[in-house]
Amino acid sequence: MKVLIVGGVAGGASAAARLRRLDENAEIIIFEKGRHISYANCGLPYYIGNIITEEEKLFLQTPESMKEKFNIDVRVNSEVTTVNPEKREIEVLNIDSGKKYRETYDKLVLAPGSIPIRPKIPGVDDERIFTLKNVSDTFAITEYIDKKKPGEALVVGGGYIGVEMAENLRHRGINVSIIELSNQVIGPIDPDMAAVVHMKLKSKEVGLILEDGVKSFSKSDMRLEVELNSGRKINTDMVILAVGVKPDVSLAREAGLKIGSLGGILVDRHMQTSDENIFAVGDAVEVIDLVNNNPALIPLAGPANKQGRIAANNIAGKEDSYEGTLGNAIIKVFDMTVAAVGNSEKTLKKYGTEYMKIYIHPPSHAGYYPDAVPMHFKLLFSPGDGKILGAQIVGYEGVDKRIDVIAVSIKAGMTVYDLQELELAYAPPYSSAKDPVNMAGYVASNVLEGIYEIMHWDEVAKNKDLAIIDVRTPVEFSMGHVDGAVNIPVEQLRQRINEVPRDKQVAVYCQVGIRGYQAYRILKQNGFDNVRDVNGGYKTYLTTKEEYSIEDVEKESDVISNNDSRASGCTDEDCNITANIKLDACGLQCPGPIMKVSGTVADMNSGDIVEIRATDPAFANDIRSWCGSTGNTLSGIKQESGVITAYVKKGRSGKDMEPKVQQGNEKTLVVFSGELDKAIAAFIIANGAAAMGNKVTMFFTFWGLNILRRHEGADVRKSLLDHMFGFMMPRGTKRLGLSRMNMGGMGPRLIRHVMKSKNVDTLEDLIDKAKEQGVRLVACSMSMDVMGFKQEEFIDGVEIGGVAYFLDSADRSNMSMFI
Ligand code: FAD
Repeated sequence: MKVLIVGGVAGGASAAARLRRLDENAEIIIFEKGRHISYANCGLPYYIGNIITEEEKLFLQTPESMKEKFNIDVRVNSEVTTVNPEKREIEVLNIDSGKKYRETYDKLVLAPGSIPIRPKIPGVDDERIFTLKNVSDTFAITEYIDKKKPGEALVVGGGYIGVEMAENLRHRGINVSIIELSNQVIGPIDPDMAAVVHMKLKSKEVGLILEDGVKSFSKSDMRLEVELNSGRKINTDMVILAVGVKPDVSLAREAGLKIGSLGGILVDRHMQTSDENIFAVGDAVEVIDLVNNNPALIPLAGPANKQGRIAANNIAGKEDSYEGTLGNAIIKVFDMTVAAVGNSEKTLKKYGTEYMKIYIHPPSHAGYYPDAVPMHFKLLFSPGDGKILGAQIVGYEGVDKRIDVIAVSIKAGMTVYDLQELELAYAPPYSSAKDPVNMAGYVASNVLEGIYEIMHWDEVAKNKDLAIIDVRTPVEFSMGHVDGAVNIPVEQLRQRINEVPRDKQVAVYCQVGIRGYQAYRILKQNGFDNVRDVNGGYKTYLTTKEEYSIEDVEKESDVISNNDSRASGCTDEDCNITANIKLDACGLQCPGPIMKVSGTVADMNSGDIVEIRATDPAFANDIRSWCGSTGNTLSGIKQESGVITAYVKKGRSGKDMEPKVQQGNEKTLVVFSGELDKAIAAFIIANGAAAMGNKVTMFFTFWGLNILRRHEGADVRKSLLDHMFGFMMPRGTKRLGLSRMNMGGMGPRLIRHVMKSKNVDTLEDLIDKAKEQGVRLVACSMSMDVMGFKQEEFIDGVEIGGVAYFLDSADRSNMSMFI
């Protein structure tokens, strides 16, 4: 038997090797139009990023090794130009000699892969615009980087390859931005999960331009000018086009083989095309999506390899079939892992499939064992029988194994009830006695059985008449909460149950879902019929709320390497600090880690160093502020795989090791009073201090908050009590009374008149000037809660801060004034 194979990489090489193992006598010839066979496509971005440093490692086999090991004739630089199914013959172009020849076959395997899409954008042929598909592309990109040393790069397309390239170009020290037409990167996951990836990219200083595309490329001086659909223009030094691939069906189409509805080669379960002697595998073929049974194009290496093997089995007379693809995919995004399997919510909606979803945020392993890092886990399942439809996981450690367990469970037709029962390997460093996969099964089963009624954040946003109860601690609440929520910690819920309205639908939420579920059960068993837990808690809210802006994300380099007077950053290499005390705060949410640090440092001697490991993303900033305000030294800080490691030395470095408050030319004013004359006095002092070069912070608390209110009010959701409270207090500067001689409102008008006649700025002008001079206006979060004020009710430019913020600012000030 003579078997010819077109394409010598994933599918083609796999088919050839399997066939040889089954049939020692077959004549097997691989034709590969490139210079290399069996190379590691998936490793190419990492070669560009200098993570894989040896070129040879990219080549899994060579023509020589294929000959030696498998007795396979490999012809590189050989392009198959036509296939003649009637004559069972192909025509081959020897690219080196330019000569063409024919070769007959008994069986033919087409494994030509896919072609990177190169949209016909004006200027797209510029030599600085690259696509990445094979080894030649890889060498072209590395050579350009090595020789031209580009400072900036634009990656067009935020799919797997685009994101991997962005990371690897960052590794080469290049400033990178990704431009993506849709509203998210990594299309196979849903936007709520992609939001977490957006944060990671931003924190690694990858620019992200969403919902925009490239209109044209043009030369500008020595650089490339990229004009976007929005009209924005970007200058860059190189471009990677990663806007997707399409199946390479040119040979198949010309040979008259059937092409599927999505443009891939049509094959049956045996990988046989419409011609019985021609098989096709890999990126070039259409497969069946195993979840929805529709045709799909899923260009992944795993399926290509398996299909190659299956085609070989059938050619050798060993019947075998390929049932379909789950699209199980995983990607490293810097130190984060993103994985998805089965159908996303978007796909389920597209096909009109009924589904339910749950979110959980379990730790990667037992919380008491060091370095447990939470993961975002979304499970999609069928509302009828609980059949698993898909999952997406974003996290650090252990994402890969959980996604694979889900992949197996989908393939096996399992339901969420089965997930509860899976016996998964457990020891504290690896998992919890209830693995995240079991947890997902428990939550989803409870939901299906009606033991646990949930709602999702999008439903909360739509229902304006909800009573929202935040069952976290007051400190967690003060760090951020959902508009209109009332804080009743779950521990107090039984005593304060009368505060929960019985005439409305009640939504409870906590940080990740566990306390919310408890609160839900307490309320349910106390006669609250119309109560729901908002699934996934506040953590999910942060990724789903529409107004969430990735602009809020701090760059890790700002957090980690900012060598200011209060904290020195360090990298992995230079973080060579020996700590005599170790503190594990992993798994704790803010303010847990800081409280643990505070307790530990209190018992340390001056000069002692504690190494703290924490997984709360806010910890990097918190520890910086904490050290600054407590007079301790942040000797180093680094972040790796979701774990922030900080080194805190008790006291200051140098001779004087005792903790000491650092003072500078900063001034802090606490504005407690909400009276016009005191407000004017406060702003005059603040403006004066700012004019003298001081950094000024005005911390508004209690009645002082009225000064910051907008005159026109704002449309915010509030409880009745908060509304009444707000109604009774002056709304904005124009309604403030005087501390003395108010005279039923005459006094303020009189004083404004006098100020005008004497050319003194009005309070409104003073506020504007203060803002112009960079005076920070900070509203006290605790007072806001007490008085029922929301940020939207304040004038522009007001920040929100807690007591720690004030104390930090006051510690750095050499003047604090209370008005
Ligand atoms: P290919 O492996 O692309 O091989 C096709 C070969 O056929 C090519 O070498 C081509 O030159 C040759 N050919 C085409 N036409 C002819 C002709 N007429 N004559 C002779 N030869 C021809 N997948 C994953 O699952 N995980 C990953 O992490 C991953 N990362 C990737 C990173 C990059 C940069 C790229 C480009 C792909 C990545 N993939 C990944 C996708 C994966 O590599 C493909 O799905 C897989 O290689 C497809 O195998 P294939 O055999 O169909 O095609």
